[in-house]
Amino acid sequence: MPLHLCEWHILIEDFTCFLKQSTVFTQLKDLFEVINMAVPKKKTSKSRRDQRRAHDALSQIMVTECQNCGEKKRPHHICDGCGFYNGKQIIRQNDTVATA
Ligand SMILES: [Zn+2]
Repeated sequence: MPLHLCEWHILIEDFTCFLKQSTVFTQLKDLFEVINMAVPKKKTSKSRRDQRRAHDALSQIMVTECQNCGEKKRPHHICDGCGFYNGKQIIRQNDTVATA
């Protein structure tokens, strides 16, 4: 007895549902994702790699002494120890509210 058209439809739907759930389908999907992945056209030469890294070195941080408390601080920055800058108290001690 031949299947009715709507019965075929249900069968195909079930099969596609089974395919989507099966591991083979997900493995194929993963495989295609790997194939479509962006890949560099050429190997980066040691020279080009090192040229890129020429600016990667960290520079030494300048340190000066605070004129108020003598603690080491960065120039043109408020002192972490006393909160002074250019002879004026900018941050109160044990407080983070700016006064000037
Ligand atoms: Zn200070």
